[in-house]
Amino acid sequence: MQVYKFGGASIATPERMKALLPIIKESKDQLVLVVSAMGKTTNALEAIVNAACKNNNEEAKQLAQELEQQHLQYANEILNETNYLTFAKDFHVLFTELLWAIDDVDATKYDYSYDQIVCLGEIFSTKIFAYYLQQEGENLEWIDARDVFRTDDTYRDAVVDWHFSEANAKEKMAGLLLQGKKIVTQGFIGATQDNVSVTLGREGSDYTAAMLAAMLQAKSVTIWKDVEGFLNADPKEFQNTVKIEAISYHEVIEMAYYGAQVIHPKTIKPLQNNSIPLYVKCFLNKELEGTLIQNDVNSIFYPPLIVLKKDQVLLQVTTRDFSFITEDNLSFIYSIFHDLKIKINLIQNAAISFVACIDNKADKIKQLVATLEKDYSVLRNENVGLLTVRHYTPDILNELTKNKYILLEQKTRKTVQVVLK
Ligand code: ASP
Ligand code: MG
Repeated sequence: MQVYKFGGASIATPERMKALLPIIKESKDQLVLVVSAMGKTTNALEAIVNAACKNNNEEAKQLAQELEQQHLQYANEILNETNYLTFAKDFHVLFTELLWAIDDVDATKYDYSYDQIVCLGEIFSTKIFAYYLQQEGENLEWIDARDVFRTDDTYRDAVVDWHFSEANAKEKMAGLLLQGKKIVTQGFIGATQDNVSVTLGREGSDYTAAMLAAMLQAKSVTIWKDVEGFLNADPKEFQNTVKIEAISYHEVIEMAYYGAQVIHPKTIKPLQNNSIPLYVKCFLNKELEGTLIQNDVNSIFYPPLIVLKKDQVLLQVTTRDFSFITEDNLSFIYSIFHDLKIKINLIQNAAISFVACIDNKADKIKQLVATLEKDYSVLRNENVGLLTVRHYTPDILNELTKNKYILLEQKTRKTVQVVLK
């Protein structure tokens, strides 16, 4: 069995969805297809949540109706008349859920409200995909990932209960696969034990694909993207990028963690733990070789692997009474970050100060600084970037930091990280 993950770009238009059919037909293995919301649907749903939270329900519903029209038009282009009519009935019920969710929005429970609305993007896209594949003769079953992935109630970043979800995956999917059916399901979503919808964090569909592969012991996972494979840097940010043919889980998890957009950072662990290879391939040209991500291969020579995480904030936390930043202060400061669920991307400490580079999430930083300032003085630099280069050379580093103001630099043998402006 193999898991294929199709992201939003791969189904952004009816033409693109149609072009996935040969990829699916060509596979000789059983397939689980994990699918994202179409194109920019997740962003559109976020806009709906935000409008509803500002009490602009009219605007929220207007935006929802536009999204409904887009999906119906898409389905109309890809389905024959009979299938379209059945689909439209099915879709009407799902869309009503969206309207209810808008009425239920509670601005004081933003994350909860967000998940009830945003999870529907994947439900919509997979419905269309399943109808289309069935129309084209595929023997398949649509499965609601919320019946499989049981999570806690950390809305927008839910934590999966592995054992419960694994048992569900086996019970709900393994038998169907044995009967020769393909499965279409959603990435990115799950549900709590009270059956409340959750999301797993933006771009989380990759992670769903990896979990299902591990739970169902897949032979491999393939993430189908609009790029030719894993590049050594983001071509939108850097020139002269090179495609990498094979790379270890370790290199990829480091790059993803520090901001490489290609793969969600949580994707690697379940695959590494189960030695399941991950292919990154191009849906625009399936003949291209792509990239293979697997266990360490000693012979791999890596070019410099470059990631720039933008929109960072550098905080400097200093004791007011000149007491040292030792374990007691450190663990206290850490607990403040931990309680607010703020991830630290880079830290450094000195005699009486502690420096942390974090993502710029305005509301969280406001709370963080207010709490820290009860005991420390806090300085901040906004709008900085965190550059990470693995397998760096002095020349590359010079070139990348030319004309930039460096606020912090950390080097190990293989990796350099620089906070710059
Ligand atoms: N649709 C979600 C997002 O855009 C999940 C994903 O695409 O992986 O973040
Ligand atoms: Mg996506």
